[in-house]
Amino acid sequence: MTKILVIAEHLGGQLNASTARAVSAAVAVKPDAIDVIVLADAPEAIAAEAAKIDGVSRVLTVARAENAHALAAVLAPQIAKAAAGYTHVFAPSTTFGKDLAPRVAALLGVSQVSDVMTVEGPHSFKRPIYAGNAIVTVEVDDSTTVVATIRTASWPAAGSTGSAPVEALSLDVTLPNHTRFVGLQQGKSDRPDLQGASKVVSGGRGVGSKENFEIIYTFADKIGAAVGASRAAVDAGYVPNEMQVGQTGKIIAPELYIAIGISGAIQHLTGIKDAGTIVAINKDGEAPIFEIADIGLVGDLFKILPELESSL
Ligand SMILES: Cc1cc2nc3c(=O)[nH]c(=O)nc-3n(C[C@H](O)[C@H](O)[C@H](O)COP(=O)(O)OP(=O)(O)OC[C@H]3O[C@@H](n4cnc5c(N)ncnc54)[C@H](O)[C@@H]3O)c2cc1C
Repeated sequence: MTKILVIAEHLGGQLNASTARAVSAAVAVKPDAIDVIVLADAPEAIAAEAAKIDGVSRVLTVARAENAHALAAVLAPQIAKAAAGYTHVFAPSTTFGKDLAPRVAALLGVSQVSDVMTVEGPHSFKRPIYAGNAIVTVEVDDSTTVVATIRTASWPAAGSTGSAPVEALSLDVTLPNHTRFVGLQQGKSDRPDLQGASKVVSGGRGVGSKENFEIIYTFADKIGAAVGASRAAVDAGYVPNEMQVGQTGKIIAPELYIAIGISGAIQHLTGIKDAGTIVAINKDGEAPIFEIADIGLVGDLFKILPELESSL
């Protein structure tokens, strides 16, 4: 019997869309049951959202004061305990899941499968390597629990017409006290979230400075897009690093991606592999970004952007 436990990601009392994407990957395994586990201090509202995800059999809640903040060291032993009886444990391949899943795998004494982009069978998965330049098929021994992170950009969010039952779970686990929550420093923005936005405008080194990046923000606001950046723009201090798109930044799959003053290095492209329409604006007609762009505009961004904006 195949049973999958999906770890819910949430913040500020709200379920993150990455959870519904991880459920889509779970559905692809064609299991007998998919349970979502919500660990929080007050999990009720989050669990109610998770219960609506199509394909979910049950939502399990673990209410503990220690779960008020997503500390991997604290959550992992509880998930390892809850995993008894499950054949698979899935977490989204976000910062949250990448922090947590290796600890769960270690506690269960298994190897982790990272960044699942395709399910070939209950124990066979495809994942990208070398910044997405090669795809490898990974087979897991069917006698061990599969602990996997799900590459969220590769999976659509499961629908939200479900009504799974919610059950409280009581776990007898001693939690570690070597790691404790001190504070959360979070970038505040009224713009759409980079990882979930349907439209993203990104700027690169070609934008030239932090001050010049205003032109990217203004354009993004005009079309209601989230703002991203290349690593070169982050390293140069034009923007904070949570805006980085790519192999060592965020992996995103917007319907529209506009790359401005970005050359198209493979490490950047791996972050937008699953984007819908890609538009590139670059003054160098030979820039590699044009090889993958659906629409390319060759020219100076400081001339093209105001023109585009005024015609919108
Ligand atoms: C292990 C590793 C991980 C990495 N991870 C990432 C990652 O996650 N994300 C990422 O982005 N990179 C990553 N990189 C870095 C990557 O290799 C590139 O260095 C980086 O993406 C380049 O950023 P860029 O395109 O902004 O800059 P550049 O390559 O310098 O390109 C700037 C572009 O702007 C154009 N330009 C300049 N002025 C104008 C103008 N006025 N109008 C129009 N166009 C203009 C230029 O023609 C050029 O094509 C990683 C590298 C390594 C080794």
